[in-house]
Amino acid sequence: MTTIHTTRAIDVLPEEEIAAIQPLIDEINRLKVERNAVVAAHNYMTPDIFHLAADITGDSLALANLALETDADVIVLAGVVFMAETAKIINPKKMVLIPDLEAGCSLADGITGSDVRRMKEQYPGVPVVSYVNTSAEVKAESEITCTSGNALAVVESLGVERVIFTPDQYLGKWVAGKTEVEMILWEGSCMVHERFTGEEISDYKKDMGDIPVIAHPECPPDVLAEAVYVGSTHGMINWVSKHQPRKVMMITECSMADNVASAAPDTEFVRPCNLCPHMKRITLDNIRQSLETLTHQIEIPQDVVERARRAVNRMLEVGRQD
Ligand code: SF4
Repeated sequence: MTTIHTTRAIDVLPEEEIAAIQPLIDEINRLKVERNAVVAAHNYMTPDIFHLAADITGDSLALANLALETDADVIVLAGVVFMAETAKIINPKKMVLIPDLEAGCSLADGITGSDVRRMKEQYPGVPVVSYVNTSAEVKAESEITCTSGNALAVVESLGVERVIFTPDQYLGKWVAGKTEVEMILWEGSCMVHERFTGEEISDYKKDMGDIPVIAHPECPPDVLAEAVYVGSTHGMINWVSKHQPRKVMMITECSMADNVASAAPDTEFVRPCNLCPHMKRITLDNIRQSLETLTHQIEIPQDVVERARRAVNRMLEVGRQD
């Protein structure tokens, strides 16, 4: 579930580039042994990190599960801050490091714990479902968290007529189109996925002879309407493995296609390229520095950890659905 390391790094990175960064990779590997550390990298990391520095790769849910499974004392989260917080929430005894504290997320940064408390006052008794792309404080105010892969199952697992859903309005609208449960939405969005437009995708399709489109549910509805498959990064990887199309247009963060391409050598990936500036703050250099100096450590108040863990564990019981 968590890895697509079936391809040699040399298949996706030029040999000269690998040779140039090899000393840095050797230093990272030496520090990992010294610190008893693992590097957990999100699918949106650049190929050098994804293929050469990471021990485990995957989407948000896979990285969350890692914290439960690893024997390492230290987890370096090559991703954004909310992912590092989620790893810490799941296993607070481990040291969790984020190489750059400025690696935020427009979804997670667009809502606070007090915003959620205000919504709960406005809709008393209505449970809150929060996407994992939220701060620990927001998770602590939520009944349950979800990922893009299990959002529908999580909403329906509550057995209620309506839920408050935060913070991604587009994921919320996509789920709303598939369930009878009424969704009260927070109007957040991902700054990367909301830049795609249905018109642009439709134009590409006309130019490319009706190429199949697969898209992440953080995209706006007019983009999703152009897709034959909508799902999480993990779901998209599975779709490509199962259907093995000659060509596919993948609508998500740009590095994802580079990383998936290595596991599907017979498929040509076409993608309008939007990069996440937050994810791209993580580099081999700051991963090395993070391991050397043990910075930046994720610290979350104990009461917040406990309440947030309830919401995350409840989601893990629903499990992966894609
Ligand atoms: S791609 Fe979007 S959802 Fe993911 S970290 Fe970047 S801003 Fe957040």
